[in-house]
Amino acid sequence: MKVKTRFAPSPTGNLHIGSIRTALYSWLFARHHSGKFVLRIEDTDLSRSQAISINSIINGLKWLGLNWDEGPYFQTQRLNRYKQVINSMLEKKDAYICICSSQELEQIRLKQIREGHKPRYPGTCRNLKIKNTSNQKYVIRFKNPLSGKVVFQDKIRGEIIFDNAELDDLVIQRSNGMPTYNFCVVVDDLDMEITHVIRGEDHINNTPRQINILNSLGVKIPIYAHLSMILDEEGHKISKRKNALNVIEYSKNGFLPEALLNYVIRLGWSYGDKEIFNISEMQELFNLKSISKSSSTINIKKLLWMNKYYINNLPLNYVSNLLQDYMTNQKIDIKNGPDVESLVKLLRNRYSTLKEITESCRYFYEEFDFFNKKAVEKYFTKKNSSILEESYKRMKKLSIWNDYNISTIINDISLDIKVKTKEVNMVLRISMTGDIYSPSISSIINLIGREKTLLRIKKSINYIKNI
Ligand code: GLU
Repeated sequence: MKVKTRFAPSPTGNLHIGSIRTALYSWLFARHHSGKFVLRIEDTDLSRSQAISINSIINGLKWLGLNWDEGPYFQTQRLNRYKQVINSMLEKKDAYICICSSQELEQIRLKQIREGHKPRYPGTCRNLKIKNTSNQKYVIRFKNPLSGKVVFQDKIRGEIIFDNAELDDLVIQRSNGMPTYNFCVVVDDLDMEITHVIRGEDHINNTPRQINILNSLGVKIPIYAHLSMILDEEGHKISKRKNALNVIEYSKNGFLPEALLNYVIRLGWSYGDKEIFNISEMQELFNLKSISKSSSTINIKKLLWMNKYYINNLPLNYVSNLLQDYMTNQKIDIKNGPDVESLVKLLRNRYSTLKEITESCRYFYEEFDFFNKKAVEKYFTKKNSSILEESYKRMKKLSIWNDYNISTIINDISLDIKVKTKEVNMVLRISMTGDIYSPSISSIINLIGREKTLLRIKKSINYIKNI
């Protein structure tokens, strides 16, 4: 059997971490078995489908590298095919026309609730054999079996059984002529030869209905795997319309796709206590057996930890290219400062995201007029002006501009004018960066370069004069 999976989002909201997990597991399962992965956009709910959500899905999957072998298919482009199947079901009497008005149905529903029954369609039109629907609004319903059970082996949850008596006759075509979700899924999974349906547990209740339709069409039933919920840090179910971040926001916040995928695979799947998986390990090791039945909870700290891990362990030039793109998007002109690779080398073990690195390194590329007020009060004293004067003189003359020689100058100044090295470092740090936090100041000065260093020292000397 050639494995074929699909990711079938409805474009009614952002692509969020829960949908990413469904996509990732489906993609990995296909890749693990050298099968195919299909992208299908389920857009028949015209009132809720949005172009912006379609973009979010496609861009998000592309950013993560979850490439598809077929599609994107759009259900709205397959309406003729659905019509054809519905007609053949009508002919075979597996489906029927229902002219019950919504008012009638609402009354029945309220009565059932009043009498303590589960609301369901009572089958009024099931045996009426209505053919002529001139000028009358109608829907088409599937003739669900009245008795017996639907049993399926869920790959995650084991055997699941539904009583047909619990299911009513599902609408497969709405009064506006549009086929419904449960029906389109069946026809698509059939036509696209999907072997494994991996999706959220919110679809478990749809599964017996879909199986009954598949049975009526006389075709093979795919294998199902329903994934448990993902909860946010407060314990609420994440939802694309409420609390879930669009996956592209992770990119904007400086997360790496490698880190996000690694984080997401661990939301409900494990391989011993291994935490770090690169893409090829994921493809090699992923299986449905080790997916957990319990819900998983978002943990941003863990995601940050993973991102830091990847920033520090992926090849330097790869991370540098990502950072360069990120900085350019943040309107930093990288031609105005050190090459990004040296910057990554210097900073990557201090920060967790590309955003943090970018925010911390503007001073390499841009001049600034603002110094941290407290730092100025403490270190930019008249007395300390001599540190700046000496640094200016000595750095101007320095024959070979490198980290070692700069730190020698700093040590010499400290000895010669009898000020602690720490004090010298701080004064130079404020002068170079505007603040008191940075990696080793000699490395910073080295990367900033002689010309800008001298300029900034001059500027600080003037600043102190004017205090
Ligand atoms: N379109 C459905 C959704 O976005 C998924 C359908 C399926 O996977 O069968 O929830």
